[in-house]
Amino acid sequence: MKYLIVGGVAGGATVAARLRRNDEDAKIILFERGEYVSYANCGLPYYIGDVIKERENLFVQTVGGFSTRYNLDIRIKSEVESIDTEKRLVHVYNIEKGVRYTESYDKLILSPGAEPIKPKIEGINHPNIFTLRNVPDTDRIKKIVTVRNIEKAVVVGAGFIGLEMAENLHHLGIKVDIVEMADQVMSHLDFSMATIIHSELRTKGISLNLNDGVARFDNKEGKVGVVLKSGKELEADIVIWSIGVKPETKLAREAQLEIGTTGGIKVNDYMQTSDEHIYALGDAVEVIHTVLNKPSLIPLAGPANKQGRIVADNIVYGNSSKYEGSIGTGIAKVFDLTIASTGASGRWLKKEGIEYIASYTHSSSHAGYYPNALPLSVKIQFSPKDGRLYGAQVVGFDGVDKRIEMLAQVVKAKGSIYDLMELEHAYAPPYSSAKDPVNMAGFVADNILKGRMKIISWRDVVKADREKVLLLDVRTPEEYKLGAIDGSVNIPVDELRKRVNEIPKDKQIIIYCAVGLRGYVAYRILLKRGFENIANLSGGYKTYSIATEDASVEQYFAGRIGSDDLLIDQEREVAITVDAVGLQCPGPIIQLKDSYGNIEKGELLEIKTTDQTFGKDVASWCNVVGAKLISLESARGVITALIEKGEPASCGVTASPLTDNKTLVLFSDDFDKAMAAFVIANGAASMGKKVSLFFTFWGLNIIKKKGTSSLKLSKKNMLGLGTRFVKSTMRKKNIDSLESLIEQARRNGVEFIACKMSMDMMGIKEEELIDGIIYAGVATYLERSEEANMSMFI
Ligand code: FAD
Repeated sequence: MKYLIVGGVAGGATVAARLRRNDEDAKIILFERGEYVSYANCGLPYYIGDVIKERENLFVQTVGGFSTRYNLDIRIKSEVESIDTEKRLVHVYNIEKGVRYTESYDKLILSPGAEPIKPKIEGINHPNIFTLRNVPDTDRIKKIVTVRNIEKAVVVGAGFIGLEMAENLHHLGIKVDIVEMADQVMSHLDFSMATIIHSELRTKGISLNLNDGVARFDNKEGKVGVVLKSGKELEADIVIWSIGVKPETKLAREAQLEIGTTGGIKVNDYMQTSDEHIYALGDAVEVIHTVLNKPSLIPLAGPANKQGRIVADNIVYGNSSKYEGSIGTGIAKVFDLTIASTGASGRWLKKEGIEYIASYTHSSSHAGYYPNALPLSVKIQFSPKDGRLYGAQVVGFDGVDKRIEMLAQVVKAKGSIYDLMELEHAYAPPYSSAKDPVNMAGFVADNILKGRMKIISWRDVVKADREKVLLLDVRTPEEYKLGAIDGSVNIPVDELRKRVNEIPKDKQIIIYCAVGLRGYVAYRILLKRGFENIANLSGGYKTYSIATEDASVEQYFAGRIGSDDLLIDQEREVAITVDAVGLQCPGPIIQLKDSYGNIEKGELLEIKTTDQTFGKDVASWCNVVGAKLISLESARGVITALIEKGEPASCGVTASPLTDNKTLVLFSDDFDKAMAAFVIANGAASMGKKVSLFFTFWGLNIIKKKGTSSLKLSKKNMLGLGTRFVKSTMRKKNIDSLESLIEQARRNGVEFIACKMSMDMMGIKEEELIDGIIYAGVATYLERSEEANMSMFI
């Protein structure tokens, strides 16, 4: 028998080796357009980034070694140009010799791979714009980053390859900008999981330009001008173009082989094309996505290798091995994070009209009490009818690979969330918890499916009509103070039974805690007490804040981390090192507070934690206590903050540096009290002080658009007579009216803050209040008062 193989890397090389093992006598010719066969294209970005040091390590086999071991006729620099299916011939072009010839076959195998998508964009052929597919591409990029002094790179497209290149270029000390058309990186993930990657990228100093595409490239004296559709202009020494790949199907199309709906070569279960003598595999073919049950392109090395074995077996033994389709399980490293997914994401399911429930769980990579437990976030999508697991996404710093593999086996076997509960795992504290994060995902899903807990997604919380819901934060006051959903009310879960009468029954109650567990406890407490319209926020505040925060990690830490111009003073000694690794919020902050009390002003404290919200919390905490956040770094999921003690503590911690600002809380809508407040506010403002007025509860009536005419004196109102008398006396004595005082205050730059929580509770809408109001929570008031030397409650 004579077998011809087109393509000599992942799929082609696998078929060749297996064919030989199956058939010692066959003639096997392998054509490869390039110079190399059987190399590790998955390793190429890491060689560019100097992580893989030796070029030869990329080559799994050399042409010589591979030919000898398997008795193959390997013809490199040989392009198969066309196929004559009638005569069973291929036309080959020997690129080196410039010679064309034909070769006959009994069976032909196509594994030509996929090529980078390169649309026609002005300037895209600039010599410093690169794509990365093979060894020559790698050599070109490696050469320019080695030989020339490359300072800036732009990576266009934030899929696997784009992000791996961003990381590796950054590793070489190059400043990297990513440009991505979508609103997130890695479009196969759901937004809420991708945002974790956004944070990681920004923390590492990668600049992310989302929702933006390239309009054109300019040649700027050797550099590349990258003009974005938004009008923004970037300049780079090199550009990596990686917006995706498309199956290489030219040969197949011209040979009239059937092409599928996705644009890949159509094959049957045996990987046989529409021509019975031709098999195809790898990135060039479409396969069935077994969750969506439809053809799909899955350009990954695993499927290509597995298909290679099947193709060789079917060719030699007759069609007996079936390729059962793929669920697209993939994994990638993005700096310290590992991101993995399997099956169908929420977005895909929605697009396909498949009903699903999504649930988030945040656990640790192993038992929290054993050192170096790191956060691990799991999102699963499953059927509301029978719990079939459609897909999962896992993001974390350690143990992501094994979790996705556990989940993938269940998805692949068409299992359900009940299987996740049952999955048996090997447990000892350094490796997992007695209930593995995958089991936990199953338990939570079980509670949801059995109706023990209704969940609400972060998206629905964002959309919720705040007039009709009460957002109940059941975390501790310390956690609440460090960041909460706007307008939420804090009743810690342990106080809930006592304070249940504070919760209205005529509103929907959306409960949330840090990750969902205390929320579930609170849910059960309220359910037992007759609350029916309740829901627990899936994934808790962690998921909500990751998914909704505009502010990048870079912004949180602006001026403190991520910029090389703010290096830690290596000479200074650290007075106390606090190990808060493994503790969940607010544990690290509490430990910080306790240890901070034991150092002197000007001394340094270093704290290490794996709580990923700590970065933001510590920045706020330092602002509040007057400490200086010297640096904040994240490596392999461990956040290290270096803090310098500020002014001595006044109440256990430290006092913030006082400024001359004034804050007034207006709780009452009594006419005389409002007058007094505005007289003081205007007086202070006229002396150049920054004044903030915080209107809460009845105080909100003072700033309603309908005016202040209905306000009454706190005493001697006498059915309105007293108020009328005071107002007429004011007119006679030329005292400004309340309206005029309010107007003056606005002109004087007095800040008007309306308490969102009181508005929600009292059913007051934003439209009812005068313009120019800041709508905020108590945290904003507290922050203002920290900067003030006068706070009055009226
Ligand atoms: P390829 O391995 O691409 O081989 C196709 C070969 O066919 C090419 O060498 C080409 O020159 C040759 N060829 C094409 N047409 C002809 C012709 N007419 N005549 C002769 N020769 C021809 N996948 C993962 O699962 N994990 C990863 O981490 C990962 N990382 C990657 C990183 C990079 C930079 C790249 C480029 C890919 C990565 N992949 C990864 C994808 C993975 O490499 C592919 O899915 C896999 O190689 C596909 O195998 P294939 O045989 O279909 O195509």
